[in-house]
Amino acid sequence: MGSRVIPITLHPAESVILKSIDKLFSASAAANAVLLLLAWAAITLGVVGAVRADEFPPAPAGTFSLVVIPDTQHYKIKKKKVDNDAFESYVRWTVNNLRKQRVAFVSHVGDVVDVNERKQWAFARQTMDLLHGRVPYGISVGNHDMAASGDSSLFQEMFAASRFARFDWYGGYYRNPDGDFAHSGNNANSFQLFTAEGLDFIILHLECNAPDDVLDWADDILERHALRRAIITTHMGLGPRDRPKTPEDFFQSPKGRMTWKKCHGKRGNSPQKMWEKCFRKHANLFLICCGDQSRTQTMRQTARGVQGNFVHEVLSDYGEQGMRVMRFVPARNRIEVRTWNSLTNKFCTSTEFVPRPSEHQFSLLYKMTTSP
Ligand SMILES: [Zn+2]
Repeated sequence: MGSRVIPITLHPAESVILKSIDKLFSASAAANAVLLLLAWAAITLGVVGAVRADEFPPAPAGTFSLVVIPDTQHYKIKKKKVDNDAFESYVRWTVNNLRKQRVAFVSHVGDVVDVNERKQWAFARQTMDLLHGRVPYGISVGNHDMAASGDSSLFQEMFAASRFARFDWYGGYYRNPDGDFAHSGNNANSFQLFTAEGLDFIILHLECNAPDDVLDWADDILERHALRRAIITTHMGLGPRDRPKTPEDFFQSPKGRMTWKKCHGKRGNSPQKMWEKCFRKHANLFLICCGDQSRTQTMRQTARGVQGNFVHEVLSDYGEQGMRVMRFVPARNRIEVRTWNSLTNKFCTSTEFVPRPSEHQFSLLYKMTTSP
């Protein structure tokens, strides 16, 4: 309702380069990967030099990164133990690159677990603990992370608000006035504050299909921090606009902001309702990160809030094919989004579902040289 969706605008140079890369796509994937790396080097570093396909160039001074970890629900049983190579790899890579990529924040889009059971949660907690105390982070509770009713007790047990209370970047969480913590309480909806390169940010992590009481809280938090640049991570966002009825619908039906939901029964809000009731009202909001749709994998659109602000909505759900590093370049008013597979140490430039390289490596325009 009322939101105007406009096509994404790339930096002119990057746009031209990516278009030619798309045209060249009939060439080998390896050739494309090299071209893309050269393009990136030319745009961000100002030099075209020897860039290795297996090396993620460091973030230059004056920039910083937001790491987005997509759905990590790909658990396996190895030697009778729960294992998850991709989850561990994404987190370890992040820990090892905190300085090199100037990581300011790590955001998990949810579906941390596949089955809402103690064994997978224990693995998730142990894995996320590698980041704990080393970098600010937040988690959006996905539909797999709670019961369909919205009960997220196990998440709350493993990632309780009390674990974060000592961190100065931890802003707080939604307290259910009914005292019913199982639903929506105790860090299931949280916010964090961080500052990078002199820019102040607030990031909210909202559970999948957050009900009205949670959205009222989010409104209040965003208003109270109106002078900070705002990001929201919430599990469901972009994908098939209407609820798919057949497996083919996941691929073929029209895509956009989803109008259907998975959790919280009648109380739950679809991504479209969350936008209408809360997100579009806030002038400081510029970015919404989501996951959930592994058959869409990557998608983005830019909408306009009611106060005229541009809001980038970005879906990342790559399974074992990659994570996202969003490099903020304030001097150029750009966010360079890179999809990186730490399992193979290569940029993800093409997938079976989404062959176009420019869907995996792209830039977003966002004014950082002026006040929010
Ligand atoms: Zn999901």
